[in-house]
Amino acid sequence: MKSRYVFPRHTKADLPIAVGGDGPFLIDADGKRYLDACGGAAVSCLGHSDEKLKAAVHEQVDKLAYAHTSFFTTDPSEELAERLAELSPGDLNRVYFVSGGSEAMESALKLARQFHMENGQLERAKIIARWQSYHGNTLGALSAGGNRWRRAQFEPMLSPAMHHVSQCNAYRSQAAGESDEAYTDRLAQELDDTIQNLGSETVAAFVAEPVVGATMGAVPPVAGYFRKMHAVCKKHGVLLILDEVMCGMGRTGTLFACEQEGVAPDMIAIAKGLGAGVQPIGALLVSDRIYDTIETGSGFFQHGHTYLGHPMACAVGNAVLDRLVGDDVLARVAPIGEQLRQALTARFGNHPNVGDIRGRGLFLGLELVADRGTKEPFDPKLGLAGKIKKRAMAEGLMCYPMGGTIDGERGDHVLLAPPFIIEDEH
Ligand code: PLP
Repeated sequence: MKSRYVFPRHTKADLPIAVGGDGPFLIDADGKRYLDACGGAAVSCLGHSDEKLKAAVHEQVDKLAYAHTSFFTTDPSEELAERLAELSPGDLNRVYFVSGGSEAMESALKLARQFHMENGQLERAKIIARWQSYHGNTLGALSAGGNRWRRAQFEPMLSPAMHHVSQCNAYRSQAAGESDEAYTDRLAQELDDTIQNLGSETVAAFVAEPVVGATMGAVPPVAGYFRKMHAVCKKHGVLLILDEVMCGMGRTGTLFACEQEGVAPDMIAIAKGLGAGVQPIGALLVSDRIYDTIETGSGFFQHGHTYLGHPMACAVGNAVLDRLVGDDVLARVAPIGEQLRQALTARFGNHPNVGDIRGRGLFLGLELVADRGTKEPFDPKLGLAGKIKKRAMAEGLMCYPMGGTIDGERGDHVLLAPPFIIEDEH
């Protein structure tokens, strides 16, 4: 229906009314079933009717719904923080709970700044992120993001503290005949040059998604890329912040996508899969070094939101870990993802308008091009992504098509992020 009072994102949209969920399916008011092959936006990693997640909500609301974190801590938040600290790479032993991905990224950017201030490095306020990335829609996160289309109309409001380097995208920017070694050296050199040009004493952090999600459609890094970027960061005293809001929580086959890159960053932002769509929650995992600096310094992180560490959300986060780790649902992701990738390759590998099939685990993308040989994108005026979404919904399939940005121009891709409980029949 067309909403009368709700302000939808697409104001002209005429949407079905979702009334139920059944495993990987959503059900509308007419009883039509939609296979959720994108988890909304890579959110519903355990489908739409998981019994343990439902029980977690019921049990927690019976005990305690909410307690403000300036007055109390709670059992579910303490438990979830301890488990995430144990499961995460390196010494990310402190967890700052928020309500979603943008809040997690805002927290990361501000914490990077405060960490350097408390270390006496007062000039370090600049952030380097990458073109064709997405870090959220709040102004700080949007400023860091490198999607020109999302930024365009807000440009006058975006922070001048944010700077951008190239994306790591083998399909789009690795030169013909350029080895992985040479390509990743080139990108690391670009970061090094950018830091030096800005003045290394003024740069606070480098921010990146380990596997790029919404902007480009599941673009994994070239082997060795993150290790080299991390080395450049360390050389200049710049923090490495990884945005795993979309690719984290098992989506790529390991709980944290960066585990596959062999890097332990200074901070990791997670959200989406952490609440699996059952509760809105995000988290910023923070290294001992950063936390200790604040604790021995001012003792106060100058940032916060009303719903920090919400007990209901944390209770669901614990249930998600029970399912992913305790019940070993995580182990399904890599093999089923590989099966899906093979099926996509068999079906679309030679399609004249599918330029690239890529991704990791159950986080896969198809890039659509007008010409496979030249990689020329479709004319944005065609609105291809919108048409694909509409057609798929008519067929009872939810996928996530987007017109991304390629070298400043709009391009198209389809992102697939089905729940980890998906079966052969689906
Ligand atoms: N970071 C990444 C990588 C994302 O994909 C998203 C959302 O798609 C965000 C941040 C923002 O998260 P939220 O929409 O929960 O604010």
